[in-house]
Amino acid sequence: MIPRFTPTFGYSDLFQSLKIENQKVAQEKLRSSFAGLYKARHIFFFNSARVALYALLKAYARPGAVLMPAYNCLTVPEAVSFAGYSPVFVDVDSASLNMTAETLEKSLSEETSVVLATHIFGIPCDIEEIIRRLRRRDVLIVEDAAPALGAEFRKRLVGSFGDATIISFQSIKVISGETGGVLLTNRDELADRVADVLNMAVDAEAPFKTFVKAFARKMATRRRTYSFLHRGYRVLYDEQMYKVISPRTKIPVHFLRTCSHFSSALVLRQMGRLGWNLSRRRKIAQIYQSGLADIPGLRLPDILEDCSPAWIQFPVSVDDKMAFYRHMQRYHVDVTWTYRYSCADSYGWNGFPNAKRAAQTVLGLPTYPSLSDDQARYICEVAQKYAGSSR
Ligand SMILES: *Cc1c(COP(=O)(O)O)cnc(C)c1O
Repeated sequence: MIPRFTPTFGYSDLFQSLKIENQKVAQEKLRSSFAGLYKARHIFFFNSARVALYALLKAYARPGAVLMPAYNCLTVPEAVSFAGYSPVFVDVDSASLNMTAETLEKSLSEETSVVLATHIFGIPCDIEEIIRRLRRRDVLIVEDAAPALGAEFRKRLVGSFGDATIISFQSIKVISGETGGVLLTNRDELADRVADVLNMAVDAEAPFKTFVKAFARKMATRRRTYSFLHRGYRVLYDEQMYKVISPRTKIPVHFLRTCSHFSSALVLRQMGRLGWNLSRRRKIAQIYQSGLADIPGLRLPDILEDCSPAWIQFPVSVDDKMAFYRHMQRYHVDVTWTYRYSCADSYGWNGFPNAKRAAQTVLGLPTYPSLSDDQARYICEVAQKYAGSSR
């Protein structure tokens, strides 16, 4: 079975990251690595991107509406409400799956305090146009680049446009550190206040605990183990392709946490191969783009001109999500159901048809760097068979 995700680290990365001497210097080295890459002056590490966002909003301290796309990770509006702000949704464009300057305009109001420009699946949104439209307003523009480490908008790194940016090292992102997230900003005063919030954070998860989780995840994606676990999972859990999921309204205990030193070391080890990581993901996406271009009933995402996504997965849209999912499984390809919910539904908001439609129809094909070209071509062949069988 071809897994939907596999970790981007190897076993030697795991063991090297356990060494105390590597953990000690990891955060400082990672800081300079991000400072160089993003030309960012202030860099803060947290347990996850959602926590980084929470800390930023606490530091900004101007509660009000936080705008974000409705087709999104539910942990984002949750973190926003934990910080005392109100999540307000923006519909997405059905071709790009991202929020656009036009869809954003409809949700803007006097209450708007912050806008989250999200690069969903690592696909750049039209960040320049979004910033241009907000020029006359007093709002903080935060790039949600959680899945978009290394993605480029017109040759410039996504995450270097807004007032602040969050990036995630969670297991399915561009670089997996098992846990972790980073907050970048060039606003000095805001950074001072983020530092105060960070001082209130509880200590990171113990390194060994993170190591055990990361090791288990690595083991679980071995060929035989994966098929076995996958069968078990299908028996135990429901496999709905679309759901309305209730958001958490109460902040979990010890939510505000710093980044595990193990995760920092694990991410640092992989920064040196970020170029290779991204070029693999882009090559795989290219194989899908040419191999799946003319399949009836399968829609591929529109990419803005002159943009290079980071592709944490390759989203495709099909009317019968379950049928396609099951078809791929019959041929031993495990695709992900992506976000099988619309955040607008979760909060009981109506009128976000494209976000709902995306939740009902989008599936993600694997793009992790260790997937071979042959495997990607095999996935195209299997998808072509689906089109043949459903006509
Ligand atoms: C993954 C993701 C997040 C959350 O990142 P965590 O590190 O898991 O908190 C937020 N926004 C988007 C768009 C994501 O893909």
